[in-house]
Order: sequence, then C-alpha cells, then structure tokens
Amino acid sequence: MTDAALAELRACSAAPEDLTHWENRHLGRRSLLGRATQELTEALAQRRAQAARSEPARRPLDPTHLPESRPPGGRHPVGLLLDEALRHFAESGFSLRESPQLEDRAHSFDLLGVAPDHPTRSPAHTFYAEGGVVLRGHTTASVLRVLAAHRTELPLRFVVAGPCHRNTVPGPRFVTQFHQLEAVAVGPGVRMSDLKGMAAGFVEDILGPDADPRLRFRSFPYVSPGLAVDVACRPCRTTGCDLCRGSGRLEIMGGGLLAPAVLRAARCPDEVRGVALAVSLERVLAVRHALGDIRHFLSNDPRLLAQFD
Ligand SMILES: [Zn+2]
Repeated sequence: MTDAALAELRACSAAPEDLTHWENRHLGRRSLLGRATQELTEALAQRRAQAARSEPARRPLDPTHLPESRPPGGRHPVGLLLDEALRHFAESGFSLRESPQLEDRAHSFDLLGVAPDHPTRSPAHTFYAEGGVVLRGHTTASVLRVLAAHRTELPLRFVVAGPCHRNTVPGPRFVTQFHQLEAVAVGPGVRMSDLKGMAAGFVEDILGPDADPRLRFRSFPYVSPGLAVDVACRPCRTTGCDLCRGSGRLEIMGGGLLAPAVLRAARCPDEVRGVALAVSLERVLAVRHALGDIRHFLSNDPRLLAQFD
C-alpha cells in the first residue's frame, strides 16, 4: 500500500487537483490511514471516559492526617528504660527536676565533701572545660541545686536524671558517657529504711523477683553511711564474666543517707534528713537483657536497637 501510494504520488502531475485527489485517496477519511486514525481517536476517547468514571473522589487536604506507614528509627533502649524508671518513681510521689550536664567545681566536688586530693577531681577521671566548668560525672551535683531551690517546700521527693561523663578507658563495665538516675527523699523523719525500700522496689519492678538484690556498705563522699546495691549477674548466670569481674554480682546502684555537710550546703533546716539513690541505667539494661558489655549501648548497632523497639 505504501509503495503503491508513493509511486502514484511520484506519478502525479504538479497540478493541484491531482495532488488533492491523491490526498483524498490515501490520507482522507475513507483511506486506510484515515480509518485507522479515526478508530484510534475513538478508542482513546472511550478509555478517557472509562478512566474518568473509575478515578476515586479526591479527598480534601487534611494537614493533621498521620501517615499510615511507620517512619524508620525508634527510641533508644536507655531512653525507654529511663521512661520506665521515671514512671516507677512517679508512682511513689517522685517528680522529675531539671539538671544541667555542665557544672561548676563547687557543686561537683567542694559542696559534696570530695577531698581536695580525691582522684575523681583529676583530669584523668573528669572532663574539664574552660573556666572551671565540669562535664558532670554524676547527677548528685544537681541534687544540691534542687535542694537549695526548694528547701522551704519540705518534705521533698524528686528525681534528677540524664547523661554523665567520666574520662575512663571504656570496657565491659565502664564507658565515657553513661546515664544515671538519682532519686532523693528529704524531710523530717527520713531514714535509711526509706532508701532500702526505694532500692528494693525499683529492683523488683524493673528486674523482677529473681534479681536477688543485696545491700553492702560502700563509702561515697556525700553520704554517711553509704551503700551499694548488687544484683545477680544474668549475662554469666552468676558464674563470673568481664561485666561482673568474675564475682557473679553486679553493682547497679549506690547511695546512702545524705551527709550533714551536704544538707547544710543546701541550707536545709538542721532536723531534716535525706536519702539519695543513684542508678546506673546501662548496667540495669545489661542485667535485664543479659548483655555482658555495656559498650553495646553506645554502639548504636541497628541489629541490637531493633530488638528493643
Ligand atoms: Zn557476670
């Protein structure tokens, strides 16, 4: 058909009527090409009408609509445990107070009764910034600030929590950045038995009844007497590992009766007593999930993190 049409076109004279005749014959509505064009046009119109009928009604834009798919990522296990711990203490009347991560030397050491030659003052143990600013190594510095600010509202029950930093060689038990939560009860009649109750309640609620907590005396500069709470080391099932230094038990908390000098530094009345209990959240997680190295919680390995979300 194409070759014949071309041959006819070449054979046409230059007269316009001849060319019009050829055009009608081969490109006009009755030609093969014309009929094909007409059929295609009609088919396209039909498909457009069909598509218009099946198109769903457009919804108005709703800026409050939440996406149905879940965004990637999730909460870090330390943050999840912190929320859980805060809920636990809130049920007993403890409220969360703000606590700065940058502290001065007075609140970090002097007012807490840390001796001038105590090793924790050394740059080999504590991170220092310019101007005498200390990257806090514990949350107890904030305890003093809260006590001083609220000493007229006794009795007080509060919690301070967040990251702490120590210039240490990272290992299964220690890391340069860890998270501490410190629960404090202050008022007339507060005793060591209150501290024991706080420790036992926390361990039972967070680690369960088989954690086997045991209290032992331990010295800290800001408490007198001081104690530590050890629990059964689950990663090694108490047979001994690097996390528990072969002892089968791991210290997860420390505290005691606040020293009179600390209460005086916060200008609390003389008859007031107080207890403080500081919890190492990474160690609690290590025991709870039987992980033998707390450095896992700094690695941000998605294979680990995905198991907590
Ligand atoms: Zn162990």
